Amino acid sequence: MNDRDYDIIIIGGGPAGMTAGLYASRAELKTLLVEKMIMGGQMMTATLVENWPGYPGGINGPDLMARFQEHCVEFGLETMTGEVEKIEDLGALKRLTIEGKDYQCQALIIATGANPRKLGIEGEEGLVGRGVSYCATCDGAFFRNQTIAVIGGGDTAAEEALFLTRFANKVYLVHRRDELRTTKILQNRVFSNEKIEMVWDSVVSGLSSDNSGLTSIQVKNLKTGDERKLEAVGMFVAIGVNPVTTFLNGVVAQDDSGYIKAGENTHTSVSGIFAAGDCRTNILKQVSTAVGDGAVAATQAEKYIDELAHS
Ligand code: NAP
Repeated sequence: MNDRDYDIIIIGGGPAGMTAGLYASRAELKTLLVEKMIMGGQMMTATLVENWPGYPGGINGPDLMARFQEHCVEFGLETMTGEVEKIEDLGALKRLTIEGKDYQCQALIIATGANPRKLGIEGEEGLVGRGVSYCATCDGAFFRNQTIAVIGGGDTAAEEALFLTRFANKVYLVHRRDELRTTKILQNRVFSNEKIEMVWDSVVSGLSSDNSGLTSIQVKNLKTGDERKLEAVGMFVAIGVNPVTTFLNGVVAQDDSGYIKAGENTHTSVSGIFAAGDCRTNILKQVSTAVGDGAVAATQAEKYIDELAHS
């Protein structure tokens, strides 16, 4: 007796979730993909993806994700927009509550990805949309001929700073250490761009604003203790990401940072629940690794369902 609605439910419509959807529906498993907002995940904010094979010269994130979506629904994947409120492990069945309605499946794939981290300083939240942003692709064009700052020292910060030089007169890149953690190719581009000024060893210590929004950023040099005021009307925060896993409420084991504990086989601590992409503990967070995870999770879920049928 089995009252499942779906063989597999996938939570999250980024590269990992969509790839899992493609593999599962192509294996003729009845599969539903639930996405909270818009399909594509973090890639929807990527200006140019230069390391996804097959696209010499690069492709922009939203265009790539549109192709992913077109491809995964080709095999009959069902998709819906909705927020998952609760997950219950009933043994052979998993139950999800999505906006008040229950859905049951045999295997569940969590591919909820990650969200940009906030600085957590006073005034930051109130200035979102009025100078503070977490997405250069989305908001860069609002800062034409202005001075802005990017905070962070990783690939995202470097890419955002470079992208923003298309619009801004000047871009400060504020990093808390004296070296970037980006690839060499990005570093060279950043250092040779005349519009970018590095602000090393520094963190944001305060924000000033008026009725129109952000007016300047106070930064503190961690080595000297000196404070400096950057006359910037835009601040793009690119200090990494947090996994989107709080809704799980401890159903599967997570590490101290909230990442779902799952190895390369995508198995979580609960039999029949798999984790793919940036929401799981892994060493590299890229489209290519998320895609690999999605494929593994779907094939592992298929194997699990097959074993259930024969148990
Ligand atoms: P990340 O690599 O984790 O870098 C975060 C940066 O923010 C680090 O430089 C870190 O400083 C700094 N930081 C963290 N918390 C901070 C705080 N509270 N205040 C000030 N600075 C803070 O994050 P990411 O750049 O978003 O990249 C995430 C993953 O995506 C990485 O694996 C990256 O390689 C990948 N990615 C790849 C591409 C690409 O290949 N095209 C593009 C974007 C992202 P420290 O250096 O001192 O720790």
